[in-house]
Amino acid sequence: MTSTIYLGFLNGYSPSWAEDLAPRVSQAFSLPTQPIDLELDLDLYYAPERRQYHATLIIARLLRYLPELDSKIVGITSLDLFIPVLTFVFGQSQLDGAAALVSTHRLHSEFYGLPADIDLLFERTVKEVVHELGHAFGLVHCPDYLCVMKASTYVEDVDIKKASLCSECQATLIDRSGKPSHR
Ligand SMILES: [Zn+2]
Ligand SMILES: [Zn+2]
Repeated sequence: MTSTIYLGFLNGYSPSWAEDLAPRVSQAFSLPTQPIDLELDLDLYYAPERRQYHATLIIARLLRYLPELDSKIVGITSLDLFIPVLTFVFGQSQLDGAAALVSTHRLHSEFYGLPADIDLLFERTVKEVVHELGHAFGLVHCPDYLCVMKASTYVEDVDIKKASLCSECQATLIDRSGKPSHR
């Protein structure tokens, strides 16, 4: 059973809504959250030819900050992330693992040439953090387009879905976390 979800804004990233994220994440998984300081040398993960940061490598580094084995850790950054097979990712995580990473870079309205919208940015970030954590809790993509576990290719997809798990994903989560697995 997971004890705590650690939320870390990378390298001093401090958006105005930072404090509001924890209660939303806590509510989604019925688990306590704790802030964690994450200072990483991100230059190591920069791909100059893409001008982006390698999400998988950063996640591998995040694992070293995990305070307890039965906890989860989420890093939040404003830097643009990629994995080699995709142009970009909003976030990335280890399926059934301990670490997840989310980028707000492409969640800003300004990225799409629209006026800044802090409330929208916050809602999008909540959805992506819950989505990536869902994977870390072993959930896979869900066909329900309102479910937070629906895959999002474009930011419009993020806006369509809700910040919460559908009843089926919720049941899977409880099933997986409620009792120790003996498989
Ligand atoms: Zn996903
Ligand atoms: Zn679902």
